[in-house]
Amino acid sequence: LLSIEACRTRGVEVAGLIFNRYPNAPDDAEASNPEQLRRLSGVPVIGLLPELDVDVAAGRWDGLDRGKDILDLGALETGPLDFSAAIEADRDCVWHPFSQMREYLGEQPNPLMIVGGRGSRLRDSEGRKYIDGVSSLWVNIHGHRNRRLDGAITKQLGKVAHSTLLGLANEPSSLLARRLVEITPPDLSRVFYSDSGSTAVEIALKVAFQFQKQTGRSLKKEFVSFANAYHGDTIGAVSVGGQDLFHSIFKPLLFETHSMPAAYCFRCPIESEYPGCELACLDELEAFVGANHERLAGLIFEPKVQGAAGIIVQPPGYMTRVGEICRRHDLLLIADEVATGFGRTGELFACGLEGLNPDIMTLAKGITGGYMPLAATLFREEIYEAFLGAYEEYKTFFHGHTYTGNPLACAVALENIDLIGEDLFLDGVRDNARRLTAMLGPLAKLSGVGDVRQCGLMAGIELVADTATARPFPPGRRVGRAVTLKAREKGVIIRPLGDTVVLMPPLNISGNDLDELVGATAEAISETLE
Ligand code: PLP
Repeated sequence: LLSIEACRTRGVEVAGLIFNRYPNAPDDAEASNPEQLRRLSGVPVIGLLPELDVDVAAGRWDGLDRGKDILDLGALETGPLDFSAAIEADRDCVWHPFSQMREYLGEQPNPLMIVGGRGSRLRDSEGRKYIDGVSSLWVNIHGHRNRRLDGAITKQLGKVAHSTLLGLANEPSSLLARRLVEITPPDLSRVFYSDSGSTAVEIALKVAFQFQKQTGRSLKKEFVSFANAYHGDTIGAVSVGGQDLFHSIFKPLLFETHSMPAAYCFRCPIESEYPGCELACLDELEAFVGANHERLAGLIFEPKVQGAAGIIVQPPGYMTRVGEICRRHDLLLIADEVATGFGRTGELFACGLEGLNPDIMTLAKGITGGYMPLAATLFREEIYEAFLGAYEEYKTFFHGHTYTGNPLACAVALENIDLIGEDLFLDGVRDNARRLTAMLGPLAKLSGVGDVRQCGLMAGIELVADTATARPFPPGRRVGRAVTLKAREKGVIIRPLGDTVVLMPPLNISGNDLDELVGATAEAISETLE
């Protein structure tokens, strides 16, 4: 057991156990050891080597029946572990996110129980392997079981798993804050931790609101956001979101915000065409902000790509103009890089694509390479300073989550950033992005494919009933979902956003795996729409 543990703490996966029989062993112990070790370690036993009476000098090897397999290598594929208890418990007790549970329980094989992963692949309880085509919901960067990331967590685990940031500091969160300040756009200098994209957004909104109040601009308390935006599922994040399907039922609970038309060139809100349009879809924003800036605290948007809206990529110059409008009218610019951050677009941050310098930035998802829940909201120094004062002035930001700045999460985030920062990593992402573009070219011509959008390693394939008119399928047909279920049969896990099929593989996916992912998706689309 100590050997297995030693291997694991060094990031070495133990595939199986092989036992030697030895002379004069107490029968009971020797008989029960393999099963006990299997049970305690979870590692499959692939064989027992018989005790051999070997006399090398005499060339005598007795006791080995050469005709018989003594190692069961098949056990390595699936392992003898029984996952039925977990599968039953999932059916009995778990309420899954964003899932109609009646439908979920009807799908076979279900639940698809993931029990392992390596590189770009996940393994289920039946031993089947799948390409993780959505990076386990847009988080994974360096693949699963990355040795350096595994090692960063186990190393920190040897020190302390958690201590609070309320009144105390811990080493990884302090060092990570320094790193984040170094790698994000130049004006951001303070880091507030939380644990999900939604909480990072809540913090951004609350700080922006309180900042305006504490700097004598208490009229500036409303927010501008964009149609189709997604910033998370907590009440504040939903208030600035534009996804009616998910959020309309909560309308009575939300605070009022001002939703502006967003760039969606395939279904242009002003029926124009880029570049001739000269980004006229932003004219309404410009006019609204110009007329109402005295009551506007800030604007929140997803730079370059509206992710959950269906990977909607903004044309060049769009985010620059959004930034200019905010600057001109003294609105805090909140860049939500929860989905786009940490290399996903081929740049470290999407803001970097146009040198955008926001006042506030939200980060989550890829921050730990897909290993631990962690989020950070970064602020300009001037914002932070507005919260300084004597205690009884009550300028404090009274907000915090229990696991804020968790050392394990921060330790793995530091290692993740080191890996991303290594020579050629982002070059590799851009190479992969080019390969993806090449693969998506023929796919775009398939019947039923209306639009293919891509930025870095984020791609959305919008399926339509009529490509000439872009008429959508009736929502009840659930075409996007049908494609992803078919793709699963072909060994790739992807998820739809409505009828947009999303591909977002780990950033270091191999060329072959990327080809397989796109190939299986194309087949699944053709077969579903046939
Ligand atoms: N912001 C953006 C841009 C997102 O894409 C998401 C999630 O997809 C969130 C915020 C919410 O993040 P989380 O699911 O971690 O709360």
